[in-house]
Amino acid sequence: MCSRDPASNQLIDYKTNDSEVQKECTTSGGVSIGVKDAIQTVGPRGPALLQDFVFLDEMMHFDTERIPERVAYAKGAGAFGYFECTHDITKFCAASLFERVRKRTAIAMRFSVACGESGSADTVREQRGFSVKFYTDDGIWDIVGCNMPVYYVRDPSLFPSLVHAQKRNPQTHLRDRDMFWDFMTLRPETLHALVMYFSDRGTPDGYRHMHGYGAHTYRMVNPSGETYYVKFHFKTDQGIKNLDCRRCDELRSHDPDYAIRDMYNSIKKCNYPSWSMFIQVMLNEEAKKCKFNPFDVTKVWPQKDFPLLPVGKLVLDRNPTNYFTEIEQLAFSPAHMVPGIEPSPDKMLQGRLFSYGDSQRYRLGTNYMQIPVNCPYRVQVRNFQRDGAMTVNDNQSGAPNYFPNSFCGPKESSRALALQTCCPVAGDVYRYMSGDTEDNYSQVTDFWTYTLDNCGRKRLIRNMSEHLCEASQFLQERAVKLFTAVHSDFGRLLTEALNTARISKL
Ligand code: NDP
Repeated sequence: MCSRDPASNQLIDYKTNDSEVQKECTTSGGVSIGVKDAIQTVGPRGPALLQDFVFLDEMMHFDTERIPERVAYAKGAGAFGYFECTHDITKFCAASLFERVRKRTAIAMRFSVACGESGSADTVREQRGFSVKFYTDDGIWDIVGCNMPVYYVRDPSLFPSLVHAQKRNPQTHLRDRDMFWDFMTLRPETLHALVMYFSDRGTPDGYRHMHGYGAHTYRMVNPSGETYYVKFHFKTDQGIKNLDCRRCDELRSHDPDYAIRDMYNSIKKCNYPSWSMFIQVMLNEEAKKCKFNPFDVTKVWPQKDFPLLPVGKLVLDRNPTNYFTEIEQLAFSPAHMVPGIEPSPDKMLQGRLFSYGDSQRYRLGTNYMQIPVNCPYRVQVRNFQRDGAMTVNDNQSGAPNYFPNSFCGPKESSRALALQTCCPVAGDVYRYMSGDTEDNYSQVTDFWTYTLDNCGRKRLIRNMSEHLCEASQFLQERAVKLFTAVHSDFGRLLTEALNTARISKL
């Protein structure tokens, strides 16, 4: 950590640039305070008085200043900037942010570490969150993605267990290798995400040097109402850079906030990070014939069959002016979509459509969309929702709060109606268990065989065996069996590495 980097100089910058003449401090009611460092007491050594509002006002606010931490992706960094459309994709999508090349749309982005608490180290082996909020002319569009193109499970009913298994043991309050490997090895659909987690990309060098992926399949609607399935990719323009294990450990003790610092300093030095945005497109007919389930978030769409099509660029050029206001309160939900973008039947996406808004309401309150950073400021919100804790806007004044009405209340949009698609769905209602009914192995085999080179495979084995060797023996054996099914070399090399780790621990 450099002691006098821009982040370290923040207060000096504030003094130099932001504050003109030093102003008087006040209570929360704006009343000037004469003495800030002494409580009112009866005599110099006497008891304190309940009438001392200067003290009570500050103390009561302090007592309530923490809000619930996000259950997952608690620790993060964020910044602001713009999306610029660089390629015409109007034949696929009618969303206003893509309507013309060179059009710019304001964005906010948040990057995070999946399972550590808000005080944990930035450099640990974890999946990273990669979320983008587009403040479009049609309202808010959120992509709530991560730095891997796949997710661990495809059925949202497993989501709470997946997170629990990676967080703290309910009795010991420790991260627990048995919990981790037990869950993962009982659900072989986790293998694809696991090999990425233990590959070099499991420890990215800060947030600027990693790719982002929407991961889920979405549906785009073009101006004629035709639909396409798509996946979103965001490729870092800074180039992929990962940390090796030794550097991760060093940073964990010397600068646990390495990734936050790196992002802040880079923007402060006007070295603005950017990502190139691409889509993969699948036609409806292709989706029907696809040899894998295109709505399974544990799968990628092979790039040779579904090439990356360039769309635009994300650029971050402004740091938050206040972390809590603008980043801690920044609230994403994959349900925030705009006309021209719709959900696909991806089960995991369907589960997240509900759960993210629900969590934000718990974390920030029912009116979390009124917080300036979450507001769709390019449009005016007009609906029939009213009241609730912390209503801080005009609550839509005297407009009718019911629909339909005869008093000039907001009407339905012909544009949104024109872009609403009609898609046939049929089938028997049932709980379809998908653990073994989908192919859990072929793409993992491809990753091992073609995506990684020899050195990448060696590092994957080392990273995985160092983690797995701390799990119970029966879990190690179960894991070896699964990775042998991915590729016999994988199973063999993992067994050898586990034996070496066992001997070195004797
Ligand atoms: P391609 O060769 O066309 O794509 C491979 C992709 O893998 C590239 O996007 C590359 O990113 C990325 N990659 C390289 N090393 C790693 C790593 N250690 N961890 C994660 N991603 C990495 O092949 P396919 O599209 O046929 O996919 C083959 C396998 O590659 C898949 O099964 C999947 O495991 C993995 N993959 C595929 C992606 C896709 O969208 N199709 C995306 C990411 C991974 P880069 O652009 O930096 O070279």
